[in-house]
Amino acid sequence: MIVGILGGGQLGRMLAMAGYPLGLRFRTLDPSPAAPAGHLTEHFVDELTDPDALSRFAVGLDIVTYEFENVPVDSARFLHQRVPVYPPPHALETSQDRLIEKGFFQDLGIPTPPFVRVDSWEELEQAIETIGLPALLKTRRFGYDGKGQYVLRKDEDAVLAWQTLGGVPLIFENKIDFEREVSILAVRSTGGETKFYPLVENRHETGMLRLSLAPAPGLTSELQEQAEDYAKRVLDALGYVGVLAIELFQKEGKLYANEMAPRVHNSGHWTIEGAETSQFENHLRAILGMPLGSTACKGYSAMVNLIGAIPDRRAVLALADAHLHLYGKAVRPNRKVGHVTLHCEDQSSLQTQLKHLLSICP
Ligand code: AMP
Repeated sequence: MIVGILGGGQLGRMLAMAGYPLGLRFRTLDPSPAAPAGHLTEHFVDELTDPDALSRFAVGLDIVTYEFENVPVDSARFLHQRVPVYPPPHALETSQDRLIEKGFFQDLGIPTPPFVRVDSWEELEQAIETIGLPALLKTRRFGYDGKGQYVLRKDEDAVLAWQTLGGVPLIFENKIDFEREVSILAVRSTGGETKFYPLVENRHETGMLRLSLAPAPGLTSELQEQAEDYAKRVLDALGYVGVLAIELFQKEGKLYANEMAPRVHNSGHWTIEGAETSQFENHLRAILGMPLGSTACKGYSAMVNLIGAIPDRRAVLALADAHLHLYGKAVRPNRKVGHVTLHCEDQSSLQTQLKHLLSICP
């Protein structure tokens, strides 16, 4: 069986690594010849918007999936006429526009930060009145890792926020004074079998995920159930197939949805060592209609992203419970070039090693 992946980044690379033991083969499509997944797959170097390239890519594929959410929806639909594409292209479409996405959560009864659309300076002034400050002004499309957003703390910030982002469709959101950020990963197969991973706590630095703790410390069954209930509503509404991630804010025992990713997710990398079945393997099982593997945690895990620098490998590997993953990417500032997962039987050992790991990771 040959699985086609749109995009050739590290998520595609880890999908391929999880799929080879299952006897799968992989073909990736990415405009970059140096894409990290391309080291391991039959790699097609082409634009994702070129119909001829998409047709060439589709020949002989059994299924198509994607590994980043800004895949052009028209390209996913074009391929879907030739070969099954999962997750469904309309899930991609919903997640690509923050306003549509938040409206979708709201329609399903999933709490979100209060929000309003902003297309003009007047609407921004109005939004400050109705939603209040502090708040975030964000571009509706193509925002990731904290890019395309501006934090407004006082009325005077509006001018600079508008100068920075105005001119494209925007969303204005109340800034939630959350206790922590968490995410839930759900997986559903073509046959409807559904499983959830335990909630993970995520810590960001300058808008980028730096650290995930799994399971989220102090996780209660009530919080897990709340997150699973919300994720299930999304899966059902979208007729979803594959892994889905939802990022949430936790405040006073309540969860607020921030955004979703219709794909395997950075906050699920710990599952490679820390869960019975990794998110990558379960995504493949799900889209191919195979039985899903257990999503249970094995012990405690911490995942640290390597951003803009690679630490001394020897120092990382000297830690008893460290697992190093490098993506084969050139190092550049603010670029995710790898991650390290610590996987321990007990929490105190995890904390000791994590402290050390963070001290050696630039
Ligand atoms: P996003 O690109 O929407 O995932 O935002 C990046 C980060 O900005 C999030 O992980 C949060 O730390 C922060 N953030 C985004 N939206 C909000 C909000 N409405 N309230 C508080 N923090 C937010």
